[in-house]
Amino acid sequence: MGPGPSDVSPRVLEALGRPTIGHLDPSFIDLMDDCKRLLQYAFQTKNALTIPISAPGSAGMEACFVNLLAPGDKAIVCQNGVFGGRMKENVERIGATAVMVEDDWGQPVDVAKVEETLKAHPDAKVLAFVHAETSTGVRSDAAALCQLAQQHDCLSIVDTVTSLGGIELIVDAWGADAVYSGTQKCLSCVPGISPVTFSAKAVDAINARTHKVQSWFLDMQLVMGYWGSGDKKRAYHHTAPVNAMYALHESLLILEEEGLDALHARHRLNHNALVAGLAAMGLEMLVDEDYRLPQLNSVVIPNGTDDAAVRATLLNDYQLEIGAGLGTLAGKVWRIGLMGHASNRKNVLLCLDALENTLK
Ligand code: PLP
Repeated sequence: MGPGPSDVSPRVLEALGRPTIGHLDPSFIDLMDDCKRLLQYAFQTKNALTIPISAPGSAGMEACFVNLLAPGDKAIVCQNGVFGGRMKENVERIGATAVMVEDDWGQPVDVAKVEETLKAHPDAKVLAFVHAETSTGVRSDAAALCQLAQQHDCLSIVDTVTSLGGIELIVDAWGADAVYSGTQKCLSCVPGISPVTFSAKAVDAINARTHKVQSWFLDMQLVMGYWGSGDKKRAYHHTAPVNAMYALHESLLILEEEGLDALHARHRLNHNALVAGLAAMGLEMLVDEDYRLPQLNSVVIPNGTDDAAVRATLLNDYQLEIGAGLGTLAGKVWRIGLMGHASNRKNVLLCLDALENTLK
C-alpha cells in the first residue's frame, strides 16, 4: 500500500509467464493492436497514436517533451510536487527554457496563475502539468488547464502516471495533446511500460519538426513505424518486452471488464472508508477534500511520532508497506496507496488495524 508499484493482480502475473513469442509474430501484432484499442478506452480517446512505450513512466514523460520541443523553445511547467521538477529537467536538457509556475506541495496547480503566465509568455509552445501528484496526493484541474493551453495556442503535456484507472481521465473531452502514464499504479501491472497518447495536433507538430529528436529510442516518428500508427508500414524498431506486453494487455482487459465508472467508484469507496477510519483515530489528511486522490492518501504524521519506526513495524509485523513523504514532506506525511487491484476492503481494514496497534 505504498505509492506504487501496487500489488500486481494474479491474472496479470499469470499472463506474464506465458511463452515468449517473436515481437513481429502475427499473434503478437494482434495483441499490440488490441492494447492500442484498450488504451484508447482507458484514456477515453480516439487518438490514433495511442501506444505503450517499452520503458517506465519517466520515458513516457521524456517522449512527450523531446518530441514536442526543440532547442530554443519555451515551455510553461507547473510544479506542485516532485514530478513537475522532473518535467523542468526534461525541458532544460532539450535546450529549451522552462518557465515555472510553482505551488505549495499539497496544493493543486493554481489555474489563475497559469493563465497569467500564459498571457505573459505568448511564445510558449507547451504547457505541462501533473494531473495526479504522487508525491502529495493532489489532483489538479486537468480540464481547465488543457482548455487554457488551447486558448493560448500551446500544446498540453499531461502526466497521468497515478491517475490512469484511478480517477476520471478523459483525454478527448479535455482536449489534452500529449498524455503519458505508467503501468505500476492503478493498472496493477508490472512496472516498466508507459502508455502514451498524442492528439492529431501533437502528431502534426511532430511531423512538422525540422530539428531531429535528440533521443533515437523515443523519436515518435520511428516508434510509430513499429506500432503501425500513421501511414507507415510496421517495421522493426526495438525488441518489445513481449511478456510485459502480455501483462499490460491482461491488466487492460481487467480494466475494461470492470468498466471505468465502477473502477472509479471502487477507488472512491475504499478511500472514504480509509479516511473515516483514520479520522476516528485522530489522524488528519494533508490535502483538502476537493483535491484528494482516492488512490494516494497523504496522512499527516502526528507530532512526536517516529516516522521510520512506524513504517518499519508495519513492514516487519504486518507485511504492510506504506510510503514515506518525499522532498519537503519527508517526515511529515505517510503516503498510503489504494491503487487498482489493491484498492479493496481487506487492505483498508489491514492498514487501519496495523496503524492503530502501532500508534498505541
Ligand atoms: N510521474 C509521476 C506522477 C509518478 O508518480 C512517477 C513515478 O512514480 C513518474 C512520473 C515516473 O514513473 P517511473 O518511475 O515509472 O519512471
